[in-house]
Amino acid sequence: MFSEKMLAAYLNSPRELYLRYREIPKPSGKEVVIKVMACGVCPTDVRYFLGYIKSIPYGEESYGLTGHEWSGIVVDVGEEVEEVKVGDRVVVDHIAYCGRCRYCRKGKTNHCIEKRYYLRGYAEYGLAYAPIILKLPNEVSFEEACFIEPLSSCINSIEKTSISFGDVVVVIGDGVIGMLHSQLAKLSGAEVIMVGHHDERLSTATELGVDFTLNSNKVDIFDEIKNITDGYGADSVIITVQGTEVINSALNLIAKNGRIVVFAGTYPETTFNLSPNRIHYSEISIIGASEHTPKQFSQALQLIDKRIIKVKPLISNIVPLEKIHEAFNFVINRRGLKTIVKPHRE
Ligand SMILES: [Zn+2]
Ligand SMILES: [Zn+2]
Repeated sequence: MFSEKMLAAYLNSPRELYLRYREIPKPSGKEVVIKVMACGVCPTDVRYFLGYIKSIPYGEESYGLTGHEWSGIVVDVGEEVEEVKVGDRVVVDHIAYCGRCRYCRKGKTNHCIEKRYYLRGYAEYGLAYAPIILKLPNEVSFEEACFIEPLSSCINSIEKTSISFGDVVVVIGDGVIGMLHSQLAKLSGAEVIMVGHHDERLSTATELGVDFTLNSNKVDIFDEIKNITDGYGADSVIITVQGTEVINSALNLIAKNGRIVVFAGTYPETTFNLSPNRIHYSEISIIGASEHTPKQFSQALQLIDKRIIKVKPLISNIVPLEKIHEAFNFVINRRGLKTIVKPHRE
């Protein structure tokens, strides 16, 4: 169908980003080729760019990089595809699972032992897996669709907090992931406190309905949160930034019987000390959350489509593929909130 070439981003080695033309991929079986209309830059992509992710090769095989928050239009389908057709507007769920392993049968497809990733969103065209991609309602733009993947992962995380009406939830981190968690926590009936250190972002959080915002460079967050919670501490603390110090902070902010969710990965890898008695006597749960299931992916689309979760105010930078370097620098330098790369104009 296509004889022409496409532009794609490559990483020769960490930080050595370049663009080059290559063959448009061919779909086989249940695969489809998507004309990529938007790809959100995730901190994971930046970690790959900086050399922290060793499992994905550099050089020739790096085309499209780790782009996984992508949406576009189906332009070619494999011989077994029934789910979508050429011309459909879609969002890509990038986690293909086997459906047979123990994790899949427990509904935890994000831990599938045969999990395959459909990444490579930083290219003009990309391969996706038809059984897991979703058609986009006309009301959802390609840019908004880039939030479905991160939102689905935040839904996974929020489910683990088991928020009750009236709970106090502290969200640490004022980035996109903090904003999405905060909105979900509000929806779940919590009073939400966001801790960050960028005034501009914190005021966006206030506009999105966050009850209290604390700039950790300006106030003592421990005193403030103690005051807000009448000395009890928070019922849940959601950590959306990396590091170990922040886990200690969370342990100082959490109420008895509280839950701490570690959402962010920490690179380089490290460890931290924990008092068993603190966990035991105070009945603290420390919970990890990573990735999403197909159910959560569908829920995320629903929440964005119905404008229950607001994502438009989170879009700060839209950059053409030719300027992907600039896009990564925006994220590294924390310029604004979400940066989206657009390989094609509308
Ligand atoms: Zn991501
Ligand atoms: Zn599986």
